[in-house]
Amino acid sequence: MRLVLLGPPGSGKGTQAVRLADHFGVPHIATGDIFRENVREGTPLGLQAKRFMDAGELVPDAVTLRMVAEVLDRAAAQAGFILDGFPRTLPQAEAFDALLDRRGLRIDAVLALDVDTEVVVQRLSARRTCPVCQRAYNLVFAPPKTDEVCDDDGAPLAQREDDREETVRRRQQVYREQTTPVRDHYEALGLVRAIDAGGREDEVFRRTLDALGDPVTA
Ligand code: AMP
Repeated sequence: MRLVLLGPPGSGKGTQAVRLADHFGVPHIATGDIFRENVREGTPLGLQAKRFMDAGELVPDAVTLRMVAEVLDRAAAQAGFILDGFPRTLPQAEAFDALLDRRGLRIDAVLALDVDTEVVVQRLSARRTCPVCQRAYNLVFAPPKTDEVCDDDGAPLAQREDDREETVRRRQQVYREQTTPVRDHYEALGLVRAIDAGGREDEVFRRTLDALGDPVTA
């Protein structure tokens, strides 16, 4: 199974991607996670990416494409993948088509998660992560047992630098401007399945499986 997930920041794309990867037994490849890991470890890639990420801007296509090509050539990604956060620009989508072509591979579907901007701004401003184990929380929908402290290891929860309201709004704008053409590109290829991403996580997951015509119930 080779899937691409499209959706604005805060559409629940990451959560659904993890579940789909688990369901189909293929790796979840999240470019944002890979960049963040590189920033944490202070690698040359992380140093290149950080200033763009902190501003809510996209990392340059050349840097992103080099990274994705490397990840796709790893053994685990050969059987399939769930791509989360890539491609994000039309040049990335076109380069990705060529990259798959060269490897004789095809995407099965592009899942486009649709959700209202105000809902995502609310969701993201309440998002917190444990800096120690990376467990995700939401102060409104999935709060920790004790105020802003991780249930698993007691570490104070952190807010992603780019989840502050102003940056969230900028990220939405970047998504509308740069990623809408990616959706149009895949629409023209007949690959897009639109999913209503409002409501509970389980409901959205059920809708994604339905959209894929998957007979297995979640
Ligand atoms: P995300 O976790 O997917 O919201 O990504 C966080 C940040 O990583 C984005 O705001 C970008 O700065 C960067 N990023 C992730 N994926 C890409 C991509 N495909 N192209 C360019 N920048 C990206």
